[in-house]
Amino acid sequence: MDVLYFSPMLLGLNLIFSVAIAATALWRMSRPMPAPRYWMVGAWTLVLGVLMFGIFVSTRNPVVNVIGNLLQLCGEAIIVLGVFRFIGRPIPYWIIPVSVLIFGSANIHYWVYDGNSDLLMTIYSVVAGLLPVQAVWLLLNLRDEPSTRPARILVGVCLSLYSLVTFARGWLAWQAYTSGQGYVQPYESFSYLLPYNLGIPALVMGFIGMTLMTMQRILADSRANAERARQHTLRFERLLNVSSAGVAVIRDGRICDGNRQLESLLGVNRQALLDSEFAQYAKRRSRSLLLRTLHDATGDLVDVDIRRADGSILNAELRILPLVGDSGDYIAEIRDVSHRRTLEDELKRLATVDPLTGVMNRRSFNALFSRAMKRVTRHKAALCLAILDLDHFKTVNDLHGHQAGDEALRQFSLFCEQQARGTDAFARIGGEEFVLLMPDTRVEGAMSILGRLLSGVAAMRLRGSQGSFQIQVSAGVAEYREGDTMESLMQRADKALYKAKVDGRNRIVVAD
Ligand code: GH3
Ligand code: MG
Ligand code: MG
Repeated sequence: MDVLYFSPMLLGLNLIFSVAIAATALWRMSRPMPAPRYWMVGAWTLVLGVLMFGIFVSTRNPVVNVIGNLLQLCGEAIIVLGVFRFIGRPIPYWIIPVSVLIFGSANIHYWVYDGNSDLLMTIYSVVAGLLPVQAVWLLLNLRDEPSTRPARILVGVCLSLYSLVTFARGWLAWQAYTSGQGYVQPYESFSYLLPYNLGIPALVMGFIGMTLMTMQRILADSRANAERARQHTLRFERLLNVSSAGVAVIRDGRICDGNRQLESLLGVNRQALLDSEFAQYAKRRSRSLLLRTLHDATGDLVDVDIRRADGSILNAELRILPLVGDSGDYIAEIRDVSHRRTLEDELKRLATVDPLTGVMNRRSFNALFSRAMKRVTRHKAALCLAILDLDHFKTVNDLHGHQAGDEALRQFSLFCEQQARGTDAFARIGGEEFVLLMPDTRVEGAMSILGRLLSGVAAMRLRGSQGSFQIQVSAGVAEYREGDTMESLMQRADKALYKAKVDGRNRIVVAD
């Protein structure tokens, strides 16, 4: 009989043991899913409980029996809690202390009725049989996860079978108790053989179902993740292509993705673009700036010159930012600002140049004059300033028209600029008033330059509405003296010019 009893019990223990090992594997591979952890802990608790029962059978120690039963009860409860966790319902932790309490208080009986365990078994079976009922109900009625439904049904059926077996066992124990049949060796009691022959196999099947539903959920999750990733990629691509700027994703200094706008900005096709070195597109002078911008990736705007595939140069505005966290990917935005750069250059030029004649305007002349004055005071060098004013220019306008007057101003300016030396500065400071600044020049030198100018101007033939005409110019020149300021030098030259006008025009007068 002993042999008969021990084989199903050992088989049951082995099965539970296998389930515990498999549950541990499931927990490891499905992390961080929470439910398998409960199943693992529950299965090992069951193993402990069954082991204790084995010890009880050989030692007949009732305390070991009670502890073994309690552990089995807790193990079953923990597995049921895992089902709640799987479904996402609030976990009824209370079922553990309540089962322990009910069963624990019933154990007093064990000592009162010496040796009779039938009542104890009845109470144990009722508590243990009731534990899975709510979990089964939840498993079968979960609406929102159709993919796990077949596996959930399997688990539900197995747990129901387990409950039924446990109730049947309780019923048999109750019969034995009420018939007062007295103490029966566990291995002679059918109520002890039931769980090992039917209950534990049902539990094993249930665990297979739990594994299946876990796998199905992982599969469904990864499918959903793949779909989400696909959507993200699509959205990213859409965003890239919607941008009016060229956008590049850069990894290890190479372009690993880019939008169509970037291809047309750089003048390359996608094949040539991908995996090409980002810095290679910068014009040599911009390369270090571009590399620094990539290294810092602060998102600040910098102006760089881009060399397109056909060799043409593109003025671009560049901004680089890390793509996500520390992934090592950077996103670069490149905008064609050639148009803006041209406008800026034009504005800069307009700010320094007189629009009619194209010579230096008063503002930039003053800046240059100021620098020349500083140098001359420091080095005690020579400097001459001449103011030139066209003679009777009002009459030129009146006789030949304003357009001819304009043309005369242009011709005059062109001629003076040609005559001036590289170090001289010629500027228009008023309507028909000009200045010539001659650094490192004494008055004699200035006189000879101005003399050449005056005779050259007098020889110019211009065309107006009334036929050809000529212009003349008067000049006042002043040489820098110690203590002179910009204003005083200008004033002295102006006074000399006035004198030249008064003295009959078409002449040069030197300030005293
Ligand atoms: P003066 O010999 O005393 O310098 O006589 P002026 O007629 O040159 O002197 P005034 O200052 O009376 O006249 C300057 C004239 O220059 C008046 C104006 O019509 C002309 N003028 C000034 N700026 C321009 C310009 O941009 N274009 C043309 N066409 N004429 C200009
Ligand atoms: Mg004038
Ligand atoms: Mg004049």
